[in-house]
Amino acid sequence: MTIELQASIPHGRIEEKWVTHLDHIRLVGPRNRPKYTIIVVGTGLAGAAAAASMGAMGYKIECFCFQDSPRRAHSIAAQGGINAAKDYRNEGDSVFRLFYDTQKGGDYRSREANVYRLAELSMGIIDQAVAQGVPFAREYGGLLANRSFGGVLVERTFYCRGETGQQLLLGANSALAREIHDGRVRMHTRTELLDIVVVHGRARGIVVRNLVTGEISSFAGDAVVLATGGYSNVYYLSTNAKGCNVTATWRAHKKGAGFANPCFCQIHPTCIPAAGEHQAKLTLMSESLRNDGRIWVPRTKRDTRRAAEIPQDQRYYYLEERYPRFGNLVPRDVASRNAKDVCDEGFGVGPSGLGVYLDFRDAIGDRGADVIESRYGNLFEMYERITGENPRQTPMLIYPAPHYTMGGLWVDYNLMTSLPGLFAIGEANFSDHGANRLGASSLMQCLADGYFIIPLTIGDYISRHPIGEIGTEHPEFKEAEQTLRERTARLLSIHGTRSVESFHRDLGKLMTDHCGISRNEAGLQEALKNIPEIREAFWNDLAINGGSAELNQSLEHAGRVADFLEFAELMCIDALTREESCGCHFRQEYQTRDGEALRNDEEFAHVAVWEYTGEGRTPVLYKEPLHFEALPPARRDYKK
Ligand SMILES: Cc1cc2nc3c(=O)[nH]c(=O)nc-3n(C[C@H](O)[C@H](O)[C@H](O)COP(=O)(O)OP(=O)(O)OC[C@H]3O[C@@H](n4cnc5c(N)ncnc54)[C@H](O)[C@@H]3O)c2cc1C
Repeated sequence: MTIELQASIPHGRIEEKWVTHLDHIRLVGPRNRPKYTIIVVGTGLAGAAAAASMGAMGYKIECFCFQDSPRRAHSIAAQGGINAAKDYRNEGDSVFRLFYDTQKGGDYRSREANVYRLAELSMGIIDQAVAQGVPFAREYGGLLANRSFGGVLVERTFYCRGETGQQLLLGANSALAREIHDGRVRMHTRTELLDIVVVHGRARGIVVRNLVTGEISSFAGDAVVLATGGYSNVYYLSTNAKGCNVTATWRAHKKGAGFANPCFCQIHPTCIPAAGEHQAKLTLMSESLRNDGRIWVPRTKRDTRRAAEIPQDQRYYYLEERYPRFGNLVPRDVASRNAKDVCDEGFGVGPSGLGVYLDFRDAIGDRGADVIESRYGNLFEMYERITGENPRQTPMLIYPAPHYTMGGLWVDYNLMTSLPGLFAIGEANFSDHGANRLGASSLMQCLADGYFIIPLTIGDYISRHPIGEIGTEHPEFKEAEQTLRERTARLLSIHGTRSVESFHRDLGKLMTDHCGISRNEAGLQEALKNIPEIREAFWNDLAINGGSAELNQSLEHAGRVADFLEFAELMCIDALTREESCGCHFRQEYQTRDGEALRNDEEFAHVAVWEYTGEGRTPVLYKEPLHFEALPPARRDYKK
């Protein structure tokens, strides 16, 4: 098997590429659309938007999620906002500036044409959401309000208090519900994709397990769209919902889809620090808080005084001092690395010393308690409920945590993976965020992919092939189902002594230590030695209670952890191979004299795309070179 990396970027000036592309791609006429079946896996913002839009166009959609309702997808957790280049604030914002910020924020490791298209489509997303009734915050005069997120000098983030993801998902889901009601979308909840079926080199369907009855069955279609989210839970502790996993994209990878930049994982700077060994999940405090909160640590190492007892001149506002232009609003990778550095140097606060303060004292003093409460009230409440501290009186304690994965399935300009007929959208693809995503840009990408790109580009693929000539009676489906039954039986037959959770925790610690905020060759080699050992122990000593023909969450978790145990190895190989620092990928061997990331454009200005070559075999690396025509890469400097 070899991977063909045809990015299919349209010719022409960057401003014209998408429009020209739309003028030339093949369309499917309205009367033919109901003849095509499209499988959409995932009902987060990307999947719900795609299924609803393609349903409304007339395609026959089979839609899947593992939750009990499509609107419980992890997107519901998004707090801070969604970017768009509307320039309501009259600051000179533009499509080009949003494109520039995203390219620079991603440290010039994304495909220009896709990023420009994303910025272009951003405005339509807001219009679409407003038309659906999404209650964005508004100014006194009625115009939609904006705030700032890291890495930019304008206010372009639209928000619904601290629950933007939930409100956008309610919008997308009401559109989806209408299509379900009208019969164009068939919704399968509590159903987990376990394999992609490939016939004659094309993705022709999926094999799923009904999570309530345990039944394994298949669905055939003319194309398959994966909108299955990111894989930050490889670290065990992350800000993601507990169910988030790599299973769909990993199994697609094993069936021939190239996996791009797996080592690019964003560690978010503002999360509540872990409280102990038995914690199973970390909580994000939205980046929007950095608009008004000031980050600091005591100037004295291991200072045990309470925050209120530390006088102003003994407080080290390290981001404001080191990055005067962006201050507390530096991009996430920079903020996280600095937090880790000050803690490693002994300035950290809190019981473990792994914490820094996020302080609203000055903002409340300057702008008034009511204003700050109206902006962040629900986040303050959430923090207080978890920690027992009132952030209006005592600074929040925060520390970085795994949060978002820029890596994912490689896709071309049409969002098709290297496996023909298999598409990936939202966080599941290698996305438009290069080596570091800017805050509030994921929701933008999910909805651009789902509402505006895939509904048009998928037609170009399906119209080139005969309609639905393969059904689930094909031997490839039967073989895939049988393999999955055997795998389930194997997991249940181990009868070992250790819980799935314990293996996941071991893997997470290893990945956090060696493939986290910063990495080095020795650590990555160590991880590559240890991962197969954990994997072997897993397959020899795993204990799962219950059987396969019933609701069995240990069994579900075991399948996902088995995939993480394979995938983690690819992440470390990718991190080891990328001998440069860029964005979130900070290799300690490659840094400037003042400790900033040192990119190597000569050798690494490419997307690293990996091919699966079989169990225990070394994956093969392919490179998609990145061409910079509209914006030559510059050193990413947030100091000046
Ligand atoms: C706490 C938090 C706050 C955030 N805040 C923001 C923010 O303010 N702004 C922003 O831009 N981004 C934010 N993000 C990031 C953003 O929320 C996510 O990147 C985005 O919602 C991902 O959406 P998605 O549609 O790609 O996937 P998800 O919302 O993760 O949905 C995945 C879907 O796939 C389904 N699925 C997965 N695997 C399978 C399988 N094997 N079989 C069947 N179904 C499957 C799930 O059931 C689910 O329906 C935040 C992230 C977190 C964790």
